[in-house]
Amino acid sequence: MKIILLGPPGAGKGTQAAMLVERYGIPQISTGDMLRLAVTAKSPMGVKAKEYMDAGNLVPDEVVVGIVRERLQEDDCAAGFILDGFPRTILQADALNEVLSDLHKQLDAVISLQVEIESLVVRLTGRRSCLNCGKGFHLQYDPPAADGSCTVCGGELMQRDDDCEETIRNRMEVYQQQTAPLEDYYRKQDLLTVVDGMAEIPVVQETIVTALQGC
Ligand code: AMP
Repeated sequence: MKIILLGPPGAGKGTQAAMLVERYGIPQISTGDMLRLAVTAKSPMGVKAKEYMDAGNLVPDEVVVGIVRERLQEDDCAAGFILDGFPRTILQADALNEVLSDLHKQLDAVISLQVEIESLVVRLTGRRSCLNCGKGFHLQYDPPAADGSCTVCGGELMQRDDDCEETIRNRMEVYQQQTAPLEDYYRKQDLLTVVDGMAEIPVVQETIVTALQGC
């Protein structure tokens, strides 16, 4: 199964992708995660990407297309994959079509998660994750231990640099201008299913699974 999860930052793509990984046994390909790893490793690509990410802007298409092209050729993608955060521009979507055609593969579905903008800001500003085990928390909806540590391993929590309100507002603008047009792009290809991302997490998951039946 070859799926794209579309939706603005904070729509729940990462959460839903992780659940789909469990259910279908295919990998999640998150360009945001891959870029953050490169930033932490201070690789040349990471150093270049950091300034765009810190400002909430998109990393240049050719950089992101390059990492996805390589990743999709790995063995664990043979049975399918879940793209989370890619494509984000029409140019990336066109490039993905080319990569898939070279690999003799076709997309099965594009799921677009819809969430109101003010809810996205609340979701993102409250988001934290454990530096040690990576578990995600939300200060309001899924709080950490009373002393602010991870409930699983006691590790220290961190907030993403781009989860501050000013950068979030820019990420929303960027989404509206550059990524939202992908809905029409995939609607025209009869691949798009729009899902209400305001519902409870398990409800969203069931709606997605129902939409994927037959894929
Ligand atoms: P995310 O974790 O998906 O919210 O991505 C975090 C940041 O990584 C974004 O704000 C961009 O700066 C960068 N990024 C992630 N995916 C892409 C992409 N497909 N194209 C360009 N930049 C990306």
